Amino acid sequence: MLGDQLDLTSSAFDGFDPVQDVVWMAEVEQESRHVPSHKARTVLFLSAMRHFAQALRQRGWTCDYTSLDDPENTHSLAGELRRAIARRRPQSIVLVQPGDWRVQQELTVVAREHSLAMDCREDRHFYCSLAWFRQYAASRKQLRLEYFYREMRRQFGVLLDDGKPAGGQWNFDADNRESFGKQAPHGIAPPRAFPPDAITTEVIKLVEERLPGNPGHLNHFDFAVTAEQAGQALDDFVANRLADFGRYQDAMWTQEPYLYHSRLSAAMNLKLLSPRRVVEAAETAYRERRAPLAAVEGFVRQVLGWREYVRCVYWNEMPAYAEGNALNAGTPLPEFYWTGETPMNCLRETIGQTLDYGYAHHIQRLMITGLYALLLGVRPREIHEWYLAVYVDAVEWVELPNVFGMSQFADGGRMASKPYAATGKYIQRMSNYCAGCQFDPAQSTGDQACPFTTLYWEFLLRNEQRLRAIPRMELQLRNITRLTPDTRQKILDRAAAIRRNQLPVT
Ligand SMILES: Cc1cc2nc3c(=O)[nH]c(=O)nc-3n(C[C@H](O)[C@H](O)[C@H](O)COP(=O)(O)OP(=O)(O)OC[C@H]3O[C@@H](n4cnc5c(N)ncnc54)[C@H](O)[C@@H]3O)c2cc1C
Ligand code: SF4
Repeated sequence: MLGDQLDLTSSAFDGFDPVQDVVWMAEVEQESRHVPSHKARTVLFLSAMRHFAQALRQRGWTCDYTSLDDPENTHSLAGELRRAIARRRPQSIVLVQPGDWRVQQELTVVAREHSLAMDCREDRHFYCSLAWFRQYAASRKQLRLEYFYREMRRQFGVLLDDGKPAGGQWNFDADNRESFGKQAPHGIAPPRAFPPDAITTEVIKLVEERLPGNPGHLNHFDFAVTAEQAGQALDDFVANRLADFGRYQDAMWTQEPYLYHSRLSAAMNLKLLSPRRVVEAAETAYRERRAPLAAVEGFVRQVLGWREYVRCVYWNEMPAYAEGNALNAGTPLPEFYWTGETPMNCLRETIGQTLDYGYAHHIQRLMITGLYALLLGVRPREIHEWYLAVYVDAVEWVELPNVFGMSQFADGGRMASKPYAATGKYIQRMSNYCAGCQFDPAQSTGDQACPFTTLYWEFLLRNEQRLRAIPRMELQLRNITRLTPDTRQKILDRAAAIRRNQLPVT
């Protein structure tokens, strides 16, 4: 059992015989070091693994568990599997598909070395089978979430009335784009918190000792680490925040990391919580008139749509997917992504919050940290490694397509129909970040110009030829023909200064 497979109903346990079978689990530093993982991410995985091992032992099952501070620990999954094979001399290895192509390769190599059969089973946690998706994708020129999502709703009978979409339409996005305007959000119930118990406290100490240089802080750690807690977090979200989830799902506000978001991604990605239970709870809230359809549909689209879709894209396209760089981006990741030290308020807030909590919501990831990297032209692999490192919910199957496909357009449009490029005015509309910033999102040139706005125009100029091939970019590209030669030059000069990191704090 790997750290992101903590499901007692997993297919790995089909036919498990407690008399002769053994569950193997290992904590290894490699998983926190191959990208420098946020300390909260490591604590979450290790604490959840330890609680899971405890639950297995309570069932009377044997769990062969190596902890991070075991003096014999080789600190790689391959090394620990080799040691476990030597100890246990198994007839075969059974696992569910790992969440990471690299890990699957490593474990397969070890099994082969020992001529051991490796039974890699489909992960029943997900709605959509990879075999089904392979066929679905093969018959399509383009992959688009919208059609996949409708297919999932039909197949699994979610939010349907007599086979038709509830409310007469599949998509309520138009109702789901509100900001808070000038009024600070108030009265939002914070997500259910789970203060560290004895196991988590021990793991926090271990992580502070062994990974002191890794990014992030642990003083806010309160994520669910057991299936029971994950269920409580779901109930709390449905009761207290789901009804307003849709309206404000794109809104951002200073010092408000969670707003109406569910904070359930980590629990689901570690398999502590089933997406079926999540979707059913949301649909029941709609049927019982506890939440409006637009909110429930918006939420179901994320879980039954995006979450399933990106996983299928990942396994369908790997390993080539991770090599994509359709916009030929070659800029190194700015150092401030690891510290939050930048005069740009939106980035300072989002990165600061990320380092404090290991969490940022979707629009912060897509339209703040992701947008800036896209406009700057950061090397896709570097920004991918950053996302994989800093969020507690980061597992490659979900992180990589979101970064390469949705955020950076590195896959050339396999996932998104156009790059999510925007000026600082989008951020101004959706948040209060600009009110506390020295820059002006309306300006693209001069010392006060918002770097997002300057780089937006430079992005269009730099990529004009490539973007011309994308029909949905036509409108945006038409605007660059209206720039005078003088304005163009000033944009390029200002962009060059931003690239040289000449952004004095005023
Ligand atoms: C650049 C980038 C990187 C991302 N990296 C990750 C990642 O490493 N791990 C991860 O779980 N999500 C990732 N996401 C998707 C999304 O941002 C997070 O799932 C979400 O912010 C988690 O917070 P929440 O649980 O409060 O979500 P909510 O806003 O409450 O959404 C509900 C659930 O829907 C699912 N979901 C929502 N959007 C997506 C999406 N685009 N793809 C897949 N599932 C989605 C999640 O399971 C989430 O818990 C990324 C998005 C972007 C743009
Ligand atoms: S002005 Fe620009 S840099 Fe400052 S907060 Fe707004 S979008 Fe961010």
